[in-house]
Amino acid sequence: MSLLKLLIFLAQWRVARAGQGKFWHISDLHLDPDYKVSSDPLQVCPSAGSQLVSNAGPWGDYLCDSPWVLINSSVYAMKEIEPEPDFILWTGDDTPHVPDEKLGEAAVLKIVECLTKLIREVFPDTKVYAALGNHDFHPKNQFPAGSNNIYNQVAELWRPWLNNESIAPFKEGAFYSEKLLGQSGAGRIVVLNTNLYYSSNEQTASMVDPGQQFQWLEDVLTNASRAGEMVYIIGHVPPGFFEKTRNKAWFREGFNEKYLKVVQKHHRVIAGQFFGHHHTDSFRMFYDDAGAPISVMFLTPGVTPWKTTLPGVVNGANNPGIRVFEYDRDTLSLQDMVTYFVNLSQANEQGDARWELEYRVTEAYRVPNASARSMHAALGRIASDHDVLQRYYVYNSVSYDLQACRQACRAEHVCALREVAFDAYAACLRAPGTAPAPRLALLLAAPLCLRALLAR
Ligand SMILES: [Zn+2]
Ligand SMILES: [Zn+2]
Repeated sequence: MSLLKLLIFLAQWRVARAGQGKFWHISDLHLDPDYKVSSDPLQVCPSAGSQLVSNAGPWGDYLCDSPWVLINSSVYAMKEIEPEPDFILWTGDDTPHVPDEKLGEAAVLKIVECLTKLIREVFPDTKVYAALGNHDFHPKNQFPAGSNNIYNQVAELWRPWLNNESIAPFKEGAFYSEKLLGQSGAGRIVVLNTNLYYSSNEQTASMVDPGQQFQWLEDVLTNASRAGEMVYIIGHVPPGFFEKTRNKAWFREGFNEKYLKVVQKHHRVIAGQFFGHHHTDSFRMFYDDAGAPISVMFLTPGVTPWKTTLPGVVNGANNPGIRVFEYDRDTLSLQDMVTYFVNLSQANEQGDARWELEYRVTEAYRVPNASARSMHAALGRIASDHDVLQRYYVYNSVSYDLQACRQACRAEHVCALREVAFDAYAACLRAPGTAPAPRLALLLAAPLCLRALLAR
């Protein structure tokens, strides 16, 4: 190689390196402040309800929400693994799964404050984009479409992370949009309050566009398109269906449809969607009318190991997980997704919580990056190759549930991954072999509206 060629190569390599960034995504920390190791199986944690918790360990239990030491360890693990992320996404659910009577507005705000302080202490100079989860309100899930004390107080808690212009909209509806920090002007973040669309939220049940958030989102994305910006959308409650059972959607049907339409219309500026709430590790595909993949939503696993009590879910616990994305700072395109976890039962046995690499999405599914096209290819392999399905299934519970994922399990997961729309999802479940192409599924569609009442 001539000297000139070498210099050109090095210059290009440096430019390429400068364009690569990393960010964290964490969700569903669910602190149980009353967790304690006790020989009385009814005294370990309020979040287990009336379930008996035997042999509870210092790092937590699969029947309980997170003890403080587990959350503390997860945030310090982030610092050790990737100490200088460009920013952190934090998609909510901070409080324990206990009846409303055991919490109150002050208790909810105190827990949000504790976790906010911890993250600020460990990452004092890092911008955090944070969304509220359905458990970050009192009474839980009942998010109003307008201003209230909790939005006001949380805006104050998060003031150090918010631009001045974001404070007022946050106080009004708990959603906002900012230019991505440290970007060359081409990146934007949208933080949504999708708790307004949650079927358990009675405050917004009869509204067409609570908080005018959909109209606002349309405007933000239209303006982003004009300005040549690419956008990351984050929120807590995702559209679509829970993959560990059947017919369990979170959004009301009308809101689900509306969200889908926004993504279909504006997908060219949406570089990624990042949500939580499931506590499991999954993703959702979005397709255009011709069946081409146009967007992907990543659902990050929870830090809490809490086994869901949602009817129809068998053994729905998980190991605590945290996640790094590698991305291109200029285009926001997602290069890779890396999940770290702690094996909770092992941590309790060994008396030490060791956070380790679980998997890289590019290696696990043999795809070049974490784009919509790549994740569509990954889904194709999950749907058609049993070994890949099994690998996905183990990662889905953060390597907690190692059972075999057979035919019914495969249908539930593949249909939830592939179909966000109510009718297409129902058709997918009905289809023999449950593998129709996305368009075909829509043609076969019929409305279906089954919703469990219990909240996650
Ligand atoms: Zn949660
Ligand atoms: Zn939630």
